[in-house]
Amino acid sequence: MKYDVKSMKAEEFINDAEILDTLKEAEKRKDDKEYVMSLIERARDCKGLSHREAAVLLECEIPECIEAMEKTAMEIKEKLYGDRIVMFAPLYLSNYCVNGCTYCPYHHCNKHIARKKLTQEEIKKEVIALQDMGHKRLAIESGEDPVNNPIEYILESIKTIYSINHKNGAIRRVNVNIAATTVENYRKLKEAGIGTYILFQETYNKHDYELLHPTGPKHNYAYHTEAMDRAMEGGIDDVGIGVLFGLEMYKYDFVGLLMHAEHLEAVHGVGPHTISVPRICGADDIDKADFSNAISDDIFAKLVAVIRIAVPYTGMIISTRESKKSRERVLKLGVSQISGGSRTSVGGYVDPEPEEENSAQFDVTDTRTLDEVVNWLLEMGYIPSFCTACYREGRTGDRFMSLCKSGQIANCCQPNALMTLKEYLEDYASEDTRRKGEALIQKQLELIPNEKTRRIAKERIEKIHLGERDFRF
Ligand code: SF4
Ligand code: SF4
Repeated sequence: MKYDVKSMKAEEFINDAEILDTLKEAEKRKDDKEYVMSLIERARDCKGLSHREAAVLLECEIPECIEAMEKTAMEIKEKLYGDRIVMFAPLYLSNYCVNGCTYCPYHHCNKHIARKKLTQEEIKKEVIALQDMGHKRLAIESGEDPVNNPIEYILESIKTIYSINHKNGAIRRVNVNIAATTVENYRKLKEAGIGTYILFQETYNKHDYELLHPTGPKHNYAYHTEAMDRAMEGGIDDVGIGVLFGLEMYKYDFVGLLMHAEHLEAVHGVGPHTISVPRICGADDIDKADFSNAISDDIFAKLVAVIRIAVPYTGMIISTRESKKSRERVLKLGVSQISGGSRTSVGGYVDPEPEEENSAQFDVTDTRTLDEVVNWLLEMGYIPSFCTACYREGRTGDRFMSLCKSGQIANCCQPNALMTLKEYLEDYASEDTRRKGEALIQKQLELIPNEKTRRIAKERIEKIHLGERDFRF
């Protein structure tokens, strides 16, 4: 197998020999301070780095260089994403699963976990609970089970979610995290109006991948790895990739992740919309201590910084797997989307589960409510954003990326973030959060560079106060 970024075969675009060679070269060049600094300097133009270059940064342990990497990551983050942090919540539909993933409590051999699948009526209740918290953007999650969770069930659930408007609430973007499927099914998901299709690779190392997925359709490395190509063929142009850090040697997976991004860009003209950086954590019958490759907080922060430098325009997501402290650190370095108030069990927003009935996919570390998370972000000077405008304006895939790369997107993001935050403050916030949010909105409105946009945004903020909703640029 030879490395070919444009190949449609998993083992050619994620090529083991190329990854090993990249790591070997990175090891050789990691102490070349001049070279490392020249890469960091070059990356400041927000044009990214190749997987070979980024691997050298990740390998380098010179304190001065690490400091420069963090500084550049923060600069890029500030330039492209400003102070905005997009908010979302996961919604677990079903934990029936036919796969045997060794790191997930939904694996089919787990006989004592409570198996649940939401009915459409139960989905409605969950969505109302999420709307009452203030969420506008969801990521739906489901195990793989053609009998219990066929594609028709997923499509019907998406329809139900979009149909609910409780009080001023609405779910305006449904992202979907389901198992690798066929082009035909991806086409159906596209027609159902999904936002991003998310699928984590877990690990790019084929040998380890097969050991971690001993049974079930997910065992097929090529079918899983080539899923994003099929999704794009099916018309989905926003895809989200990620690995579960701690499953395989993180450096290998880091290189694989960037090679995947390069492949999507080379073949489809647009890279991944988002990259998720989950770390392995405990759950029902999963003990984190069983995974010897688990990574430290320092390495995690470095990974986030180098990803930010290497793929500046790709949003980066962390979940409530991470603690408040760890989230705080990586927000600065590059993370642009976080979940808040999450429940990782099926039906957990309406009925928090008793201990003996655990159906959660992972133990939530950050257990704060959405209001507490919003309040905390405001305190740190961030703008919690509930914006979903791009997807609804048809700014997806390459249209989205070209707007990003021209810098024009910033003219939309800032006012949209402030308007959606204003909606949140009016409809859902606690008194203290409202007070902090109003002060931040007034300050941030003045920072909108375009005078006309600033004026319109101010008028719309006033209209939101008077009861109107759903404005967007
Ligand atoms: S990771 Fe996904 S496919 Fe694997 S057992 Fe869990 S829900 Fe099933
Ligand atoms: S305007 Fe587009 S890119 Fe900016 S926050 Fe909204 S959806 Fe995201």
